[in-house]
Amino acid sequence: MVPEPVAAAIAGARRPVCAYVYDPAVAVARIAALRAALPPGTRVLYAVKANGNPDLLRAVAAPADGLEVASGGELDLALAAGARTIAFAGPAKTDDELTAAVDAGAMIHVESVHELRRLTHLARGRTVNAALRVNRAADTPSGSHRMTGTPTPFGIAEEDLDTLPRDTVPISGFHLHAVSNNLDAAAHARFVDDAVTWSVHTAARLGIPLTYVNAGGGLGIDYTGDTTFDLTQLRINPPPPGVTLAVEPGRWITADSGWYAAEVIDLKRNHGRWFAVLRGGTHHFRLPAAWGYSHPFTVLPVDDWPHPYPRPEVSNVEVDATGELCTPRDVLTRGQHVDRLRAGDVLVFARTGAYGWDISHHDFLRHPYPEVKVLGSVG
Ligand SMILES: *Cc1c(COP(=O)(O)O)cnc(C)c1O
Repeated sequence: MVPEPVAAAIAGARRPVCAYVYDPAVAVARIAALRAALPPGTRVLYAVKANGNPDLLRAVAAPADGLEVASGGELDLALAAGARTIAFAGPAKTDDELTAAVDAGAMIHVESVHELRRLTHLARGRTVNAALRVNRAADTPSGSHRMTGTPTPFGIAEEDLDTLPRDTVPISGFHLHAVSNNLDAAAHARFVDDAVTWSVHTAARLGIPLTYVNAGGGLGIDYTGDTTFDLTQLRINPPPPGVTLAVEPGRWITADSGWYAAEVIDLKRNHGRWFAVLRGGTHHFRLPAAWGYSHPFTVLPVDDWPHPYPRPEVSNVEVDATGELCTPRDVLTRGQHVDRLRAGDVLVFARTGAYGWDISHHDFLRHPYPEVKVLGSVG
């Protein structure tokens, strides 16, 4: 279940094992597959916030049409990674961030009327690429996080588009990122088609010469089951001539390019439950705790046991995989069956390449960070 090169990287890790392994080739292949499924000319950007590891980012920046960033820090990462183009969204851009985005020639996804005025003021006289992020009035296909058709801090309310200020930087189109973790590719295709149709009508109504529609990310990963986002069902209509369609997934591109490995430090029974206590936890991989699900693991047996005292071992039981933090919420998995598990074995959590390390609270309790091993890169 754990790919051989990943297992080899884990076998070479320091003991007790605590490591992220990234395989950029998986993400690169995802970009190629997605591009092949989309109408010709669609721009495939990668949303850096899913995983901003610099080595991974460099590998992804080469085949991607660009990188999507959400802060000045990510903008710097994207520039260092050699992004071909950059798109910049985010509801609280500072003046410094807006200026840096203009300097970088980024496409700026403007999140409010106030931000449009600020950008216009800051950029006076300079070329700016800008599109309006809109929170549409209509509902969107289901995903686990909805960002539009519902009250959120993201984007300009659709009803406010009719009263936009005049004399702003030119607007080339719309940014309509609206869902997260949508597993239904046919529904996603309908969402993108609808985003383009809406953009054409709205641009005509507002007198915007439409050249750009960005349908955002939101392609889903099933962490607990076997559902896959089926690209054969992602049948999106080509946009009208002169309009460039862009998408910017994060999760779907890098989730499967990451593995989090943590050694079992202790194995114990408490009030009827078995706990595998790890060198690691939610401070490295917060997603299951944040979303409230059990992330599956694979046991990587480590036969070496150099100690004079007995090795804790269980067979054919359900265990909770818990971390090294002093909080009962530091749980990665509840009640997963194991054929055999011993202290010193390593649990490997696949699909941890997106929103894993990057969303976690690394310094809580001040444990050392995991090792990071990027396959195919030096060192
Ligand atoms: C987070 C984000 C994305 C990526 O979303 P995924 O669900 O990871 O595909 C794309 N665009 C914007 C504006 C985002 O905030």
